[in-house]
Amino acid sequence: MSQLTHAQWQQRALSLSIETRAFIDGRYTTAMNGATFECVSPVDGRVLGQVSSCDAADAQLAVAAARKAFEAGHWSRQAPSARKQIMLRFAALIEQNSEELALLETLDMGKPIAHALEMDLVATTEAIRWSGEAIDKIYDQVAATPYDQLGLVTREPIGVVAAIVPWNFPLMMSAWKLGPALATGNSVILKPSERSPLSAIRLAQLALDAGIPAGVFNVLPGYGHTVGKALALHMDVDTLVFTGSTRIAKQLLVYAGESNMKRVWLEAGGKSPNIVCADAPDLEVAAQAAAAAIAFNQGEVCTAGSRLLVERSIKDEFVAKVIEALQAWTPGHPLDPSSMAGAVVDRQHLESVLAHIAEAQKQGATLRSGGRQMRVESGGAYVEPAVFDEVDNAMGIAREEVFGPVLSVIAFDTLEQAVEIANDSPYGLAAAVWTRDLSKAHLAAKALRAGSVWINQYNGGDMTAPFGGFKQSGNGRDKSLHAFDKYTELKATWIKL
Ligand code: NAD
Repeated sequence: MSQLTHAQWQQRALSLSIETRAFIDGRYTTAMNGATFECVSPVDGRVLGQVSSCDAADAQLAVAAARKAFEAGHWSRQAPSARKQIMLRFAALIEQNSEELALLETLDMGKPIAHALEMDLVATTEAIRWSGEAIDKIYDQVAATPYDQLGLVTREPIGVVAAIVPWNFPLMMSAWKLGPALATGNSVILKPSERSPLSAIRLAQLALDAGIPAGVFNVLPGYGHTVGKALALHMDVDTLVFTGSTRIAKQLLVYAGESNMKRVWLEAGGKSPNIVCADAPDLEVAAQAAAAAIAFNQGEVCTAGSRLLVERSIKDEFVAKVIEALQAWTPGHPLDPSSMAGAVVDRQHLESVLAHIAEAQKQGATLRSGGRQMRVESGGAYVEPAVFDEVDNAMGIAREEVFGPVLSVIAFDTLEQAVEIANDSPYGLAAAVWTRDLSKAHLAAKALRAGSVWINQYNGGDMTAPFGGFKQSGNGRDKSLHAFDKYTELKATWIKL
C-alpha cells in the first residue's frame, strides 16, 4: 500500500509524463489521419493531453499486424509454459508500475487514488497473473471413442481478438479480457473508452517490455463510432469481446451479422437488486454494504446495488441507517488518499446523472437525501450520493441504469414478492439477499435470474469464479477458466486406428 500524501500525489500528477499515441505492431504511433481528441480530467477540468483519435485506417493496420503476428506463431504456437513466463513478467511489471497506472486512472476518470491502487491495480495484476499461471495446467481431452478410433478434443487460439472496453475500471476490464486472450495465444487489439484511454496506452509498453511480441498486443484509442465500429465490422477480426452498455452491445451483434459473423461476447449493463429481509444477520453491516454497493466508484459499477429492496417492517429504520452510512461516501478530492469517493467520469456524465435525479422526482419518487452537484469550484464533476424512497419498480429510476450514486428504495412484504420485483428487469447481472435463514437464502439464490448472487454480502468475487450476466446484461463470462472459452475454438480430430 502506498504511503504517499495528498500533496505528494498532486506533485506526481503535475510531473507525470503521459503517452497519448496509439500502439500498433510494437511501437507508438499517431493516428494515420493525424487527428486527436482532448483528454480532460474530471478531477479539476485540466487537459491531460491530446490523444490519438484512431479510425478505420488504423484499425486496418492493427488487424493486419495482429494477424501477421498470429500467423508467425512466435506467440500463438509458443509452449504454454513459455507464454506463462511472459505473462508473469507482464503482471510483475504492472505491479511495479502500479502507482503510475493508478494515478493515470484517477486523473483520467476521477476515482479515488486509494481505490485505484488497492482495488483496480491489484485486480488487474491478479487477472494477468492468474491467467498466465493457469495456461500450462489446462489439458485437452480424449473422447470416449470405439476401440478402432482415436478422438481428440483440443482447444486452439481463435486468432485476432478485438477487445472494446468501458471507462469505469479501465485497466481491470481490459485485464479480464487480456489475461485469457493472451494466455491462450491470441493476438489482441484493445480499444479503450475515449473517456479513459491513458492507462491502456501505458500498458502497451509494459506488455512489450515483458516480452509479448510486436503485433500481439495493440492499443487503438478513439471513439466508438469510428475505430470501435471499424473493429466490429472488420472481416479479419475473429472474436469481439466487449464490456459496456447494453445499447452498444446490441449494436455490436448487428455489426457481427453484417460482417464475418465474428464471435461476440458481451458484458453489459445492470440494475442489480439488493434484497434486505427483516431477519438479516446484522442490519448495521447490511446498511454499510448497501451504501458501498451504490456509492463505490461513484456508482459507476455495472453491479451497483441500485435497487434496494427492503422488507416493509424495517424499511424506515434501515433507510435511515443507509443514509447515515452514505455520509462517508461524500465526494472528496480524488488524490486525497482518505477520499472514499471522487469525481464522475466527465461533465457530460454528471449532467446525465443529474437529469436522472430530476426525472425521478418528476415521476413521484421521494428524494430522501443527497443528489446535488458538489465541489463546483474545483472545475471537476462531482455529485453527492442520492437516495430515493417510495420507488415503484415500474419507474424509470428503477428500470434504467443511471451509472451514478443514485439509490432507489422499494419496499416488499414477502421474499417471493422481493424475488419477483428483483427479476422484473431487462438486466440480470447480480443480486444480493440478506437473511439469517439458510433455506430462504438458497431458495432466493435459485430463483434470482442473475449471473452473480451474494448472500449476506455485496460484491464478493475473485478470479476463481466466473462473472457475467443473464438476460440483457450479456453473454459469456469473464474471469475463471470459463473465460478461456471465449478465446479458443474447440476442435475434434478423428484418427482411424
Ligand atoms: P459504452 O457502451 O458507451 O462504451 C463502451 C465501449 O464501447 C467504449 O470503448 C466505446 O467507445 C465503445 N463504443 C461505443 N459505440 C460503439 C460502436 N458503435 N461500435 C463499437 N464500439 C463502440 O459504455 P460506457 O459508458 O463506456 O460504460 C458503461 C457501461 O458499461 C454500463 O452500462 C455498465 O453497466 C457497463 N459495464 C458492464 C460491466 C460488466 O462486466 N457487465 C462492467 C463494467 C461496465
